[in-house]
Amino acid sequence: MLYRDEAIVLRTHKLGEADRIVTLLTRQHGRVRAVAKGVRRTTSRFGSRLEPFTHVDLQLAEGRSLDTITQAETLTPFSKGLGLDYDRYTAGTVMLETADRLVAEEREPSVQQFLLLVGGLRAMVAGEHAPGQVLDSYLLRSLSVAGYAPSFDHCARCGTLPAEETRHRWFNPSMGGVLCSTCRVPGSASPAPETVGLLGALLAGDWEIVDPAPARHLKEASSLVAAYLAWHLERGLKSLAYVER
Ligand SMILES: [Zn+2]
Repeated sequence: MLYRDEAIVLRTHKLGEADRIVTLLTRQHGRVRAVAKGVRRTTSRFGSRLEPFTHVDLQLAEGRSLDTITQAETLTPFSKGLGLDYDRYTAGTVMLETADRLVAEEREPSVQQFLLLVGGLRAMVAGEHAPGQVLDSYLLRSLSVAGYAPSFDHCARCGTLPAEETRHRWFNPSMGGVLCSTCRVPGSASPAPETVGLLGALLAGDWEIVDPAPARHLKEASSLVAAYLAWHLERGLKSLAYVER
């Protein structure tokens, strides 16, 4: 059975003499691992179309364990726009790895994750916003779509909203976001109120707030996003290992 889909190439690894296994985030079929035959030969008809970051239109043949890529046309070569800028490239790499881990189940359609990744890579290449913030915004949104939506306004534990014009003072990744003084747990961070507001703006994609924000708040927000991601990816990795065993 042949089928068509579009996908972002997340990663590849060698298989045998000339082939590769390509991990794809497809629009309709979720995460798919497929074989690209002869792709490592210089004469390959696939050329560089199956390299990470490429947005491709594919035809695949269903296989018993792995599908085989039979046709590939480039839709957007995102790697071309990212390869020249180290910060954008490394931020883009984190996006691919995150998508790979958050869409842990193979063939479970996740159109939202696909669209988020395409949109994130497009924004990264466009260069209208700083790479670190494009990344942070993407990470918060993809975690939300994966079911780990953080709270930056109401207390993640009891749901209380902060007093008007203020923010809850505590943040803890394991609790799911900000905490009120009553729910505060040991080890919680106490970010600047502006940083908490900034995190909400990153999640909402409110660039009018994000773009002019002072560097110290952007930096603090990035470290909290990284902590939040690390906490959830660690859990994600465990479940992934369980699924593949
Ligand atoms: Zn509370």
